[in-house]
Amino acid sequence: MGMGTEPVDCLIVGSGPAALGTAFSLAEQRPELKILLIEQEGTSTGGLRNDCKMNFTWPVGFPTEYWNREEAEAMLKVADRHLEPEILPTRNMSVYSRRAAKLDVELVEIRQAHLGTDGGMRLIKKLTADLESLGVEFSFHEQMLSLDPQERTITTSRGERAYHKLVLAPGRKGFAFLQDMMDRLSIPYVDNVVDIGLRLELPEIQYPIVRDYYDPKFLFPGGVRTFCTNSRRAYVVKEKYKSRHGRTYYSVNGHAFSDRRKVNDMANFALLKTVRFTEPLASGQEFAQMLGLQAMLMGGGRPLMQRVGDFRLGKRSKAADFSADLYNFEPSLKACTPGDISLAMPARILRAIWKSMKLLDTIVPGVMHPSTIMYYPEIKLYANRPTFMDGCFQAAPDVYMIGDGAGTSRGITAAWASGVRAARGIVKSLG
Ligand SMILES: Cc1cc2nc3c(=O)[nH]c(=O)nc-3n(C[C@H](O)[C@H](O)[C@H](O)COP(=O)(O)OP(=O)(O)OC[C@H]3O[C@@H](n4cnc5c(N)ncnc54)[C@H](O)[C@@H]3O)c2cc1C
Repeated sequence: MGMGTEPVDCLIVGSGPAALGTAFSLAEQRPELKILLIEQEGTSTGGLRNDCKMNFTWPVGFPTEYWNREEAEAMLKVADRHLEPEILPTRNMSVYSRRAAKLDVELVEIRQAHLGTDGGMRLIKKLTADLESLGVEFSFHEQMLSLDPQERTITTSRGERAYHKLVLAPGRKGFAFLQDMMDRLSIPYVDNVVDIGLRLELPEIQYPIVRDYYDPKFLFPGGVRTFCTNSRRAYVVKEKYKSRHGRTYYSVNGHAFSDRRKVNDMANFALLKTVRFTEPLASGQEFAQMLGLQAMLMGGGRPLMQRVGDFRLGKRSKAADFSADLYNFEPSLKACTPGDISLAMPARILRAIWKSMKLLDTIVPGVMHPSTIMYYPEIKLYANRPTFMDGCFQAAPDVYMIGDGAGTSRGITAAWASGVRAARGIVKSLG
């Protein structure tokens, strides 16, 4: 499709699961519509590309302020049809659940599939090809820069484009961009929660539950939960972010490869605490970014890591003996600085997470082995939530905001579901 001001019926910004959900839904219901997706990268860069664990159980990934169970489950069925998940089996759930219940911990059993980072890439290619065969067009390496709502045009890195309906799905990394758009459109918004925590890494044998349940979801008292567990071919990674003032900080994360890759017998998962701020702090996001920057300061520009054994003794970890004696495995993320996490992490968050680690060690003994590595920070930021005009995520006339960036989802399947919901709104408004 050439550039120009001939309007497309639906212009979708982004190519993550939210964008794909809208595109499939529209193309299937209204094949005559001209649909164009623009993506700033060469391919989708969100969760489909990283690890690609897909959760198909309410309420995982669904912010409950926007979703109820019935609606979410109906849309998960739609996502299921396109994502064709192979649901992983679970075993011995009653054993773990019983132990957890005694400690007031909840183990949530979910339907989950895991493709791995390489498998996710194959899925993206398949979905892109399927959409193209439905007549949907893609323009990669094209970034949306600004919006003129009166003229119904956007400016991109390639020029100007006109639309009848605009769907913005820029993902979590695009939250600053979305914020600009909300300001531009005078859309009122509310500040969102942030998740802050650690990522633990350990040999799989010290967290054997992963052989029975790939990504066990434990909910601890105090608002702490396990999140994004990876095993077998698992690695800790770091993601680069820019603060509002343009300074770089990192958040750790984790992923695993599919069974086409070599086994490394490691596991990693995050323990996150959700923090919700009230007055006088205006922005939870800025708070979390400050924590990220503070960790950079302490780690000399890198995230921090500490062995559980050192932490317990109140000692910092040091590079010289980080992998000596009992500490018998190398970190999979080497570009981290051994140090003292308790100097960088707010006490209340650290206490809640440490307590959860002890509870978890009672349910799955081994987690608190002295060799376990704690990486900090793992930060999940969400955009300020726009005030929507309707139940289909229309934020301004003919402008829809969906996915993790707009706070309508926190995972691949819920992002997809958000896209389906926006498409329903668009179809309805077209008559
Ligand atoms: C490392 C990592 C691993 C994850 N693993 C999982 C997982 O295993 N399971 C799970 O359920 N969730 C996972 N998530 C969360 C998951 O990524 C999100 O829930 C999901 O991808 C959100 O979908 P989305 O469509 O809103 O945004 P995204 O998937 O982030 O897609 C947004 C797209 O928009 C593009 N974009 C942004 N701004 C612009 C612009 N101005 N112009 C053009 N294009 C733009 C981006 O390049 C990106 O491709 C992970 C996230 C990360 C970062």
